[in-house]
Amino acid sequence: MSRIVLASSNPGKLTEFNQLLADSGRSFVAQSAYAVEDVEETGLSFVENALLKARHAARLSGLPALADDSGLCVDHLHGAPGLYSARYSGGHGDSAANNAKLLRELDGVPTERRGAFFICVLVLLQHADDPAPLIAEGRWHGRVLTEQRGTQGFGYDPLFLPDGETVSAAELPPGLKNRISHRGRALAQLRHRLETPHL
Ligand code: IMP
Repeated sequence: MSRIVLASSNPGKLTEFNQLLADSGRSFVAQSAYAVEDVEETGLSFVENALLKARHAARLSGLPALADDSGLCVDHLHGAPGLYSARYSGGHGDSAANNAKLLRELDGVPTERRGAFFICVLVLLQHADDPAPLIAEGRWHGRVLTEQRGTQGFGYDPLFLPDGETVSAAELPPGLKNRISHRGRALAQLRHRLETPHL
């Protein structure tokens, strides 16, 4: 069983990654087990931030490292909240305030101009100086609703109507959301890349 450090302080993600790659001969260990603290996310894109996080965790732990970075990009807002999705309204992870701000920013914007997508980028480095990181990406397209719907999920889920669905991401059963979401797609791509190393 090979060990990979997960460059995140979120215990939910550790469980999710371990479940999804359970039969792949790999197990994920939290970066806190190696006293790795969160690095400053100074990149200008999701992939740059994921690389920074993975490199930092690989450097300090001496192990291969996987990092993810995700967020919501709204067309009408030129990609905002984007990299700042978690702290759009100021405080980190205040979903109620973030959703309220998003509704304010889109006040009066008609349905056809409320397009948006969630994105998740995963970066796996074999070691801190690995020049060929394995990068996987998933996008989930939809649009921003005019009011919140549903109580499942987290973050912007109550305001996101995925393309092809009649309910918000916060009204979808969690198992279904995890399969079709940006994170689900990125993880499926990562898994595929790991299983077919000569792609
Ligand atoms: P992080 O990559 O875990 O830091 O996530 C960044 C932020 O993007 C989260 O705090 C949420 O605000 C938003 N976000 C990412 N994925 C989702 C999702 O699946 N649903 C709702 N919000 C999400």
